[in-house]
Amino acid sequence: MLKKNHMEVYPIIVPTTNKLKSINFFLVKQGDSLTLIDAGLNNDNCWNALQMTLKKYDYILSDITGILLTHNHIDHIGLVNRIVSTHSIPVYAHPYAKLVLKRDPHYMNMRVDFFKKLYQEMGCGEFGDKQVSDHRNPIILSENKNIHCEIEEITNNGILGFDIVEIPGHAPDQVAFYHKECKWIFAGDLLFQHVPSSAMVEPNFDGTRTQSLVQQKMSLEKCLSLDVELVLSGHGNLIENPADLINERIKEIEENASKYINFIKSGHSTASGIAQFLYKEKYEKQFFNTMSKIIGYLDYLEIQGKISKEMKKGIWHYYCHEGS
Ligand SMILES: [Zn+2]
Repeated sequence: MLKKNHMEVYPIIVPTTNKLKSINFFLVKQGDSLTLIDAGLNNDNCWNALQMTLKKYDYILSDITGILLTHNHIDHIGLVNRIVSTHSIPVYAHPYAKLVLKRDPHYMNMRVDFFKKLYQEMGCGEFGDKQVSDHRNPIILSENKNIHCEIEEITNNGILGFDIVEIPGHAPDQVAFYHKECKWIFAGDLLFQHVPSSAMVEPNFDGTRTQSLVQQKMSLEKCLSLDVELVLSGHGNLIENPADLINERIKEIEENASKYINFIKSGHSTASGIAQFLYKEKYEKQFFNTMSKIIGYLDYLEIQGKISKEMKKGIWHYYCHEGS
């Protein structure tokens, strides 16, 4: 348990066997409120861990007064339906998350069209087409993402003593809950101690593409500019005095970006070409993550003016500027 000023935090840490190490979510007690920040995966491990933590501190499920979501990914929203089916409480998320979690039909169609066009233009051909139309893919939002209650939109006015800090990049709707007095920040998947977080390419509200890696870096810099003593992360360890780690993550982005320039210089001009060269079988097995990463870096370098692109027969070809 963490305690500071008038706030108590009961972390719920559920170990996983994958590289994320654990799924973390948090019960936060302030005065009369008992808030859940994020809601794990929809499985028995997370459910039992929530129940055990409640019991340990003498609470029951119906004592939870509200849920705050850092972003729409399934390992952060999993238990919302189970909780709200037992008692009705407000669930807060970014307006963008609401489109996803309520499966807004216009948004869902736009999303599929967006990815179809994106992968065509990135040179993924029929393989890309097949990935998008496969109904098990993460683009066609699964039933797991259908939240049954109303979602209250988070506003910039803050909530329960937390400032809302928009930190897109990993997800376009990602927000952090920052408590100035405590110098604590609940930052979703912005920063992990043991591995870099991934920036995921997604459509914006208007169907344009998020500059995911540019955003990710800006969000890291935003976090660096705040007075933070503890980052309560969505996976892995909690991070004390995060400044050095944040600087390291920013440096990694710069270093990887230089590597991409070299790939392009050596003649790999399309995103799918780079993906197949760099990731080999991972290109097929982890198509969405791999393409997301590469497109993120290409956009990042293009915005910095280090590379340009030209469309040939419907496919973007990237090239380096002289001297870059
Ligand atoms: Zn996530």
